[in-house]
Amino acid sequence: MLKQFFSYYKPHKRLFIIDFSSAVFVALLELAFPVAVQWFIDELLPTGDWGRIVWVSLLLLGIYLLSTFLQFIVSYLGHKLGVNIETDMRQQLFDHVQRQSFRFFDNTKTGHIMSRITNDLFDIGELAHHGPEDIFIAIMTIVGAFSIMYTINPELALITIIMIPFLVAVITFCNTKMNKAWRNMYSRIADVNARVEDSVSGVRVVQSFTNEAFEMNRFREDNGSFRLAKIAAYKVMAWTHSSMYMLTRLVTLLVLVVGAWFSYNDRLSYGELVSFVLFVNVLIKPVDKIAALLEMYPKGMAGFRRFRELLDQEPEVLDRPDAVDVPHLNGNIRFDRVSFSYDDSKPVLNDISLSIRPGQTVAFVGPSGAGKTTICSLIPRFYDVDLGSISIDGIDVRDMTMQSLRSQIGIVQQDVFLFTGTIFENIAYGKLGATDEEVYHAARKAHLEEFISDLPGGYETQIGERGLKLSGGQKQRLAIARMFLKNPPILILDEATSALDTETERIIQQSLEELSENRTTLVIAHRLATIRNADRVVVVTKDGIAEDGGYEELVQKGGIFAHLHNIQFQEA
Ligand code: ADP
Ligand code: MG
Repeated sequence: MLKQFFSYYKPHKRLFIIDFSSAVFVALLELAFPVAVQWFIDELLPTGDWGRIVWVSLLLLGIYLLSTFLQFIVSYLGHKLGVNIETDMRQQLFDHVQRQSFRFFDNTKTGHIMSRITNDLFDIGELAHHGPEDIFIAIMTIVGAFSIMYTINPELALITIIMIPFLVAVITFCNTKMNKAWRNMYSRIADVNARVEDSVSGVRVVQSFTNEAFEMNRFREDNGSFRLAKIAAYKVMAWTHSSMYMLTRLVTLLVLVVGAWFSYNDRLSYGELVSFVLFVNVLIKPVDKIAALLEMYPKGMAGFRRFRELLDQEPEVLDRPDAVDVPHLNGNIRFDRVSFSYDDSKPVLNDISLSIRPGQTVAFVGPSGAGKTTICSLIPRFYDVDLGSISIDGIDVRDMTMQSLRSQIGIVQQDVFLFTGTIFENIAYGKLGATDEEVYHAARKAHLEEFISDLPGGYETQIGERGLKLSGGQKQRLAIARMFLKNPPILILDEATSALDTETERIIQQSLEELSENRTTLVIAHRLATIRNADRVVVVTKDGIAEDGGYEELVQKGGIFAHLHNIQFQEA
């Protein structure tokens, strides 16, 4: 784990070296100070040479100005180093999450991902900056101070140093407790984030059910658990701090009293006594640092562990090393004895075989939950099949690069996901780097022109968060424009018009038919009127493909499809 941690320093080696060497220099100056004071009192003062005394004082001032400057460097560059590392990690994690497969997102709360990408990394940054530097400086200072003290007076040096293991013992004891407390705090804040994400993105549902109070109560519970967890962590921290404080003051007092006694017996000069008391202060600093580190370490490492946990989760669907680029698919799609389940408990598709000719429009109908969407999700490899295979133009989809496969499949769903931004940006999302002309052309083809030109902002109109300011039909048209721009040979329309009213559906239907011209098209639809022109109808039930044939042919056949047909058209 530590080795992994240190690998993040590599790109910032120079920064680290400058920061580190400045810190070492500062520590050396700190060590020199008590010695200088001792010499000042014992050697310089008795000479009464005021010219020299002033001169030495100026020299000390110079050294401390230098030390101040170095302190600034350490504080500034050290934090910069921490922030750089934190930023690298954040980017790496975001990139990694982007590559994850659908199943990952099925099983992971968005709020949890958010808190890993944000909060968890703060403490890692702090640790990255303080960790190695502080531990090195602390050891150097303790060893250095002890050596100097030992040459002055071994007994008093031993008395002083003997206290350090006590301090360390107390801290280590607290450390274990702290580790647990911080981990708990992290899970609780992740819960809070998840709750906020859920309630805020669902706020329209919340308010329409007037369930605000219910949501507030649920949030109060999570927030309360977080509060308790954080307070508990701080309590452990407070215990650590006060124990430390007491122990260090005891050492100072002890050194002062014992030192005074030595001095009274002429075994210690005044300068040496002062120097000793100063050294206690020099020693307390690194011990404090170690304490801070022991507090930071579990926090940072808990964050780092969570960070790595997520990072080590390999995407389930990946390019094979020998995957081929297939730039021009015709759209001859074949399912060969495909079986699939989302989780082992419940098979969704069982031994499905199916062949679709290039350019054909195939409609999938059947009860909700039968697996129509699932069939379509397998083609672009949102999930991989468990058994059997899916091929396009004779090539297994798992042998193609995902880039070439997915760039040639367009999906229009019932829920259109639009990004916060302008109409132009949302259409252009279909083909990054598209020219303005291409975007306008796509909008024309999706019959969006009139609507857009009526808007005061035109193409630059903000559509609100997730397209909130657009109607269902307008969103759907935007999605269609996106598809015209993407221009894929294979098109999947998954209940694209199901959420629309009949009139809007009729109009959108026209655009969809224009869109599906010259493309292999899979249409999932509930209203059979929208699939009248399909070349072929496949009826999917929980037991697999029940019927497969032309529209009229299936109506004549008098099976499931004929039944569905009769219900719908009798109603009409
Ligand atoms: P359809 O599109 O025909 O209505 P789906 O393909 O969406 O059906 O769903 C088929 C079955 O798979 C259903 O039982 C559904 O509950 C289940 N299912 C769909 N998506 C997921 C998912 N992401 N994770 C787990 N189960 C799922
Ligand atoms: Mg579906």
